[in-house]
Amino acid sequence: MKSLNKKTWLALWNSKLPESLKLLWWQILWNILPTISVLAAHCNIHLTNCPLCGHFEESLEHICFNCHFMKILWFSSPWGIHIDAFAHLSVTDWFGFLTNKKLVKTSLNLDNREILCFATIALDTYWFYRNKMTHDHNFCMPNSDRICFQLRKRYDDLVKISSPSHKASLASSWSPLPEGWIKLNFGVASSSNCSWVAAIARDYHGHLLIAATAKINTLSSSLTAAEACKLASSIHQSIACSSYIILESDNLNVISSLNNPSCCPDWELEHAIRDSLFSLSFAQAWVARKVTYSANVASHNLAKWASCNFVSGNVSNCMPDLNSLDSDVPMFFNQ
Ligand SMILES: [Zn+2]
Repeated sequence: MKSLNKKTWLALWNSKLPESLKLLWWQILWNILPTISVLAAHCNIHLTNCPLCGHFEESLEHICFNCHFMKILWFSSPWGIHIDAFAHLSVTDWFGFLTNKKLVKTSLNLDNREILCFATIALDTYWFYRNKMTHDHNFCMPNSDRICFQLRKRYDDLVKISSPSHKASLASSWSPLPEGWIKLNFGVASSSNCSWVAAIARDYHGHLLIAATAKINTLSSSLTAAEACKLASSIHQSIACSSYIILESDNLNVISSLNNPSCCPDWELEHAIRDSLFSLSFAQAWVARKVTYSANVASHNLAKWASCNFVSGNVSNCMPDLNSLDSDVPMFFNQ
């Protein structure tokens, strides 16, 4: 395996990851994590298949990019990432990418600390369940929805610790509204060559008013989130009683830009933010606030559902049940 330069090692040791998780990366980067492929090089092993998906030999490359289990975890990430799109990279280059602030910003328009946190917890989750399946013969594997939910809770907690901007207390589940208000949540999902956005409007009882999805020809996560915001802002106009609006998302850039357009961090976002503000100007009053991924999960799940079923437009009558989207039951993960 290619050795890492000093800068990348420093990026690992200086990151805000817990020490145990740094150690996991250290084992991966020295190629001493005892995967079946590493063990098979030293002793006779007949069954070399991955303990979790069973399809291919368990190597670092398989774990990082090709394992079906990991694909599910990554698709459940806040950005709905198809991890096999990175399979052309070596594991070392993948780590170099994750720790390169500029590169992550340029190619994915994401904060590299967030994607590094998610990648690390996903790998740790793989290693935990793979060890359970290998060494504990009485172990019963939980279903993927439960594993994804636990992963996202860990991710939310870790990001709160590692990023000062997340320290403010955030709503962690869909919360009720003052009487007469409407809440608009928006979320995104990415496929290999485009993105999908979704918006859900609910009244103060939590009842669905309208939901819409759209396909967007970009992979830029920030731009996609801004387009999702634009969709959410526009659907409120089709609801007759939509005077007081609360707009919610887990995307800090978009929420900050709505609240303070002059500080929009990215010229790419400006158009979508401006269009959103125009639509919102028809409301009596509106508030935009950042919430955790868990509190916004229904809109992300709806975007993922749209990306799997190629459905766009007003989906109020054909979308999955809101409770199932809220309670993290991505029924399309098993497709
Ligand atoms: Zn596998």
